[in-house]
Amino acid sequence: MAKPAETRTAGRKPVAKATRSAAETEKIRAALAARRDELRAEYDQTLSEITELQRDRLTDSAGDDQADTGTKTFEREQEISLANSILERITQVERALERLDEGGYGWCERCGNPIPVERLAAFPSATLCVTCKQLEERR
Ligand SMILES: [Zn+2]
Repeated sequence: MAKPAETRTAGRKPVAKATRSAAETEKIRAALAARRDELRAEYDQTLSEITELQRDRLTDSAGDDQADTGTKTFEREQEISLANSILERITQVERALERLDEGGYGWCERCGNPIPVERLAAFPSATLCVTCKQLEERR
């Protein structure tokens, strides 16, 4: 008598993960790399804006009243915190690329299914597939 086939509906989640094709992994890598380049460009842009604000502050602060100075300081702080958050996202993407190499990236933490490439490209730090994310949000 043949052993009964494993029933997929039986409570526990399968431990073995689905496999992702090499081509798909490459697609994710390309998407992440593109995202990282985009973020780096954005970061450079922000840094040059900070430099510019800094220069403004040094050159024409003599004629500024306190309110102007306050606004410029505020703008600069905004830019700096923007730069920091971009840097953080770059780190996330780089970490994702490392995990991708190790094979531990891009799988849903809840159902174990592969997270779609498009989703990973948009949210490199995503750990859930769209379905599980929606379930999570509904709770
Ligand atoms: Zn899932």
